[in-house]
Amino acid sequence: MRIVLVGPPGAGKGTQAAFLAKNLSIPHISTGDLFRANISRQTELGKLAKSYMDEGNLVPDEVTIAMAKDRMEQPDAVNGFLLDGFPRNVSQAEALDQALKADGVELDGVLDLEVPEDEVVKRIAGRRICRNDSSHVFHVTYSPPKKEGVCDVCDGELYQRDDDTEETVRKRLEVYHTQTEPIIDYYAAQGLVVTISALGKVDEVTKRAMDALKGQAEGREQRDEDKNDSRGDGGE
Ligand code: AMP
Repeated sequence: MRIVLVGPPGAGKGTQAAFLAKNLSIPHISTGDLFRANISRQTELGKLAKSYMDEGNLVPDEVTIAMAKDRMEQPDAVNGFLLDGFPRNVSQAEALDQALKADGVELDGVLDLEVPEDEVVKRIAGRRICRNDSSHVFHVTYSPPKKEGVCDVCDGELYQRDDDTEETVRKRLEVYHTQTEPIIDYYAAQGLVVTISALGKVDEVTKRAMDALKGQAEGREQRDEDKNDSRGDGGE
């Protein structure tokens, strides 16, 4: 399966992506994680990305698309992947379409995670992430770790992302509305979007997401069958 996950910062994309990818046996590809890995290795790409990320802006398309394509071409992604944080604007969505078309494959669905804006700011301001695994996410008030600053899952160090300050979050939200949200219409025109609420417990949201993706896949299969039937009726 080839899935794109969309949603504002703080919707829980990273957490959900990790569970969904595991359930679906496909790799979780997060462009944000790839940039952060480059930042910690202090690569040229990392240095460039950091200057945009710290301001809450998007990293330029050229480098982002090249990095995402390179990751999607790795052997573990041959049969599918779950994209988290990519595409983030319509030009990236078009570039992804072209790359998939060149490989003779298509997206199976776009999962849109919805969360109210005041909830986003609350979630992000208290968010703490494990240095070992970005899907180990805690919140100082809503889901505090047993020991302050230490991951319950793997004992890794918890940290606050540089771009999780209130000011940067507001900028990221603005960027989300102006640049990323239009991809929902872009994909809706292809009949690919399913929207679910990202509120509630993590496992409840995962179940909602799995059900939505399943429903969406069945709907698509039915439409494909109908299309084939009507071609048959045409007597060609
Ligand atoms: P995320 O971890 O998905 O919240 O991404 C963190 C930051 O990385 C974003 O605010 C952007 O600065 C940058 N970033 C991640 N993915 C993309 C993308 N597809 N295009 C441009 N910038 C990105």
